[in-house]
Amino acid sequence: MARLGIYVQVPFCQTKCTYCNFHTGVVSAARFSPYVEAVCREIRGFRNLDAAAGVKLPEELGKASVDTVYIGGGTPSLLEPVLLQRMLDAIRETFIAKFSEVTLEADPETVSDEKAEAWFAAGINRVSFGVQSFSDKELTAAGRLHRREDVYRAAPILRAAGIRNISFDLIAGLPFQTAESWKDSLEQLRALQPEHVSVYLFEVDEGSRLGKELLSGGARYSAGSVPSDDEMANFYETACEFLGAAGYHHYEISNWAKPGLESRHNLKYWRREPYLGFGAGAHSFCGTERWANAHDPAEYGRAIMGGRLPIEQHEVVTAAAALEEELFLGLRQLDGIDVGRIEREYGIALGERFAPMEAAGLVEKEGNLVRLAAGKLSVSNEVFVGLMK
Ligand code: SF4
Repeated sequence: MARLGIYVQVPFCQTKCTYCNFHTGVVSAARFSPYVEAVCREIRGFRNLDAAAGVKLPEELGKASVDTVYIGGGTPSLLEPVLLQRMLDAIRETFIAKFSEVTLEADPETVSDEKAEAWFAAGINRVSFGVQSFSDKELTAAGRLHRREDVYRAAPILRAAGIRNISFDLIAGLPFQTAESWKDSLEQLRALQPEHVSVYLFEVDEGSRLGKELLSGGARYSAGSVPSDDEMANFYETACEFLGAAGYHHYEISNWAKPGLESRHNLKYWRREPYLGFGAGAHSFCGTERWANAHDPAEYGRAIMGGRLPIEQHEVVTAAAALEEELFLGLRQLDGIDVGRIEREYGIALGERFAPMEAAGLVEKEGNLVRLAAGKLSVSNEVFVGLMK
């Protein structure tokens, strides 16, 4: 069995960004410790899944070693380091821990010398920053608390503490973003030299404050200053050119890394390798089944402390659904899809499905590999829908 990844969800933030519809809340710090206690109990009791939730864990899963941990959110860097340490210790006590990559999501304004040193001592060796933009105007409009200077302050603190693998997230399409401000954000990024970069296209989420405003034609939350779809596509293309020229390897539609520093944990999602998720709303996949915990942290906590499993969704992945995942996730990776392997494993022929895409210049073939053609990354969904017909 491939090595196992573990995701831990911390659903707390200091404020709510205007574009965000994640299940995260702004709560009193007094709720952090009880939540962490519940997560530790869930981790230690993970073998109960079989009996209590009907999830059939492959036998090998219990023996697999854990090589990646990703503590995400929310803003897990809000927690006192000792609470992060407790969750990592619970994983070490419960699983065969051979950690090679332990990532913490952090907001730049939450970083201090003491925290960074404690994170490194706890085993955290990678930090993913929600930078989103280097323009204070864009950050303010999006409801972010940090400013450009916080990123410049925080990155050297992490490096001084020993954390040498830093990832920056940027969002293409924030209100007030222009071609110039986007290029400036990319330039600042080059000055700080993170090892890894994720670029996400702004998506209108009908559950977010900004999304609701956009859909109702309102002007609050700077809705009138959101760039057009064409501008966003241009921002993305600019990022592809810029990051390539700056020595980053583009390995997934939204992700670039310095050679050898691709996110090992996230690669498990795209390669359909097993991972377990702990915490409110966390998702798990064991190779044949997927399940997810209750999103509401209070409900999650009540279930765990009441001795019940917090699972609210569970599905056995059918062969058809697995094939769909293979194609969708495979196309997102720039190495492409190993068509030969999929044809063998699923007993199907894919040649006819890819032929019209290849003729239209949307995909290209190299031996057994099929990948999105250069310059067609922004139409991956169109290609995927065509493949599933
Ligand atoms: S920090 Fe992240 S999770 Fe929290 S509100 Fe902002 S975008 Fe959402």
